[in-house]
Amino acid sequence: MHHFETEAIRLSSTKSNQREHSSPIYLTSSFTFESAEEARQMFADEIEGNIYSRYSNPNTEELIQKICAAEGSEDGIATASGMAAMFGSIASLLQQGDHILASRSLFGSTHQLLTKIFPKWGITSTYGDISDISNWEKLIQHNTKMLFIETPSNPGLEIIDLEWAGKFAAEHNLILVVDNCFATPYLQQPVKWGAHIVTHSATKYIDGQGRVLGGLILGKQHLIDQVSYFTRHTGPSMSPFNAWILSKSMETLAIRMDRHCANALTVAEYFKEHKDLDFVKYPFLPTHPQFELAKKQMKAGGGIITLTLKGGLPRAQRFIDNLKMISITPNLGDSRSIVTHPASTTHSKLSLEERNKVGITDGLVRISVGLENQEDIIKDIEMALEKSR
Ligand SMILES: *Cc1c(COP(=O)(O)O)cnc(C)c1O
Repeated sequence: MHHFETEAIRLSSTKSNQREHSSPIYLTSSFTFESAEEARQMFADEIEGNIYSRYSNPNTEELIQKICAAEGSEDGIATASGMAAMFGSIASLLQQGDHILASRSLFGSTHQLLTKIFPKWGITSTYGDISDISNWEKLIQHNTKMLFIETPSNPGLEIIDLEWAGKFAAEHNLILVVDNCFATPYLQQPVKWGAHIVTHSATKYIDGQGRVLGGLILGKQHLIDQVSYFTRHTGPSMSPFNAWILSKSMETLAIRMDRHCANALTVAEYFKEHKDLDFVKYPFLPTHPQFELAKKQMKAGGGIITLTLKGGLPRAQRFIDNLKMISITPNLGDSRSIVTHPASTTHSKLSLEERNKVGITDGLVRISVGLENQEDIIKDIEMALEKSR
């Protein structure tokens, strides 16, 4: 096994008889068989091979191989979006009557899944506060089957101790699912700490250029077999075209993340004592409440920072409107810097009380620090802060 960067670049699907260097796009719904008998054998799982692109495809297989190497996981499934991965990992592994213990700080749509959608089918959940993990033992019920966490969380940048989570899940016989979207496998590998399933929105850093949606479910073979049965028959498959884009992006993930992290740290440090801000949050700033923990389990702090503006919602909106370069859009992990106001957009479906509990105040803006020159990013933020006074 090569190093991270080398595997992400060199793993590729089997060459066709054209001897191409770069992997081609296999835009085909199905694959042909030599004979009726071969078709029977493949359907019966007696021999391996692609049958139909809802099941597998050379492009999705190549992407899965690369991500498995990066995460240190046994197998995986590629899905049409990150939410299809979140939904599929829970729906395939749990059943009516089961209970999930989850960290309170979750991506907005994941929160909707747990509080509104799964309860319709009798799968319930309870939230635990990250600041109070000693209390989580008491939140376990007789039917708790899964521990679902996101670290760093979106957008609060809260960090959960993965070593603790791995041990806690093992002790209580829970399936540990970690949404590793913000860190990417380059910065953090939850499998090392005992995660059974790792999920991704590949839409974010894995694409890295804001082009396609995609999701991944990775983990232990026996669990992925169950997930695979579910996705084969329910159909949230990733398009081969999107898989091809994402596999190409994996080749530059390490180098992009290095620059995202360096830019984000520089921007966070520059603004950390700014008079117009109540707080600047970044996992690798010593003022982050879990700085030591972030250093223990992450290679660097990631590409997301949050700024809390003095003056609440009107000030945050004026700030956003005065940015000249940084884009106003809900995506993140793009080469272009992006600003989002979570309280009025991605997390607006949460009640005020729910938002306050996870620190999404009206003055908080999330910045996904891109790959532009650091000075230009800083200048844009500084100018917008001034003009928003
Ligand atoms: C964006 C995101 C998702 C959802 O992914 P999509 O690709 O948009 O469906 C899930 N979790 C986190 C942490 C995210 O940032």
